[in-house]
Amino acid sequence: MTALRYGSATDVGRGRSNNEDSYVVAEPLFAVADGMGGHAAGEVASQEAVEVLKGEFEAGSATVDSLVHAVAEANRAVWGRAADDTDLRGMGTTVTAVALVVEDGEEHLAIANVGDSRAYLLRQGELSQLTDDHSVAEQMVREGQLLPEEAAVHPQRHVLTRVLGMAPEIDVDCFPILPYKGDRVLLCTDGLINEVSDSQIASLLRRRAEPAEAARELVEMAKEAGGHDNITVIVVDVVDDDERSELASAALAEAGDNGQDGTGDSTMLVPATAGAGDDGDDEHEGD
Ligand code: MN
Repeated sequence: MTALRYGSATDVGRGRSNNEDSYVVAEPLFAVADGMGGHAAGEVASQEAVEVLKGEFEAGSATVDSLVHAVAEANRAVWGRAADDTDLRGMGTTVTAVALVVEDGEEHLAIANVGDSRAYLLRQGELSQLTDDHSVAEQMVREGQLLPEEAAVHPQRHVLTRVLGMAPEIDVDCFPILPYKGDRVLLCTDGLINEVSDSQIASLLRRRAEPAEAARELVEMAKEAGGHDNITVIVVDVVDDDERSELASAALAEAGDNGQDGTGDSTMLVPATAGAGDDGDDEHEGD
């Protein structure tokens, strides 16, 4: 079995009077949601989304498709409430989730995303962003119209192209990755990303072993850097992977290949050091 350890933290920040972020920590499902809308509508949207997501998610029998379905149901719920209540009209929310699912007979972590909250993966000390932001500026980067450094200061960087509640049907980005022991997944709302650089995030995630402590410290860093928005962070560690990393290591050593072409397809990601340089010290079974 894949075993997880996790921690979370949320804070209203310094610039807002209420926290419109919501989150769910219900192993094996974890999600953050960043609500938007007038008055308290943002809070309603993000809470509705995570509650429906949690209710629809079927732990134990979940797949990538069923996680997409749960996010789609959350979207319909937010859309429905916004349509029924003039005070809530126009509300929406991001959602970024990670969940343990079974795909092709094997446990995977499925990453689902709509909006500009993010999932990152820290693997072998390297931080990579797993999700695409659904914002006007990031879309222009993907289409080659803008450089990433231009997107960071672009006036439309906060204008979202996709959120829950915008339409009765939405596209959900969702894909599986194979979890390896030592992997650390970070879910966060933009209240973290807008205040703290990826390299600062990576450095903190490498330093703090305890996930709850890492989550709390990331939130504190965002507050100290200005805390202009609500901040929500979930850190999920893979603490056991059914010896998948050992098996991958052995297979790769045999093939004489270190799996470098993993960038295009995240299901192909393999620990970077697997099969390389571990020739003296790999007999730890049975202790
Ligand atoms: Mn936000």
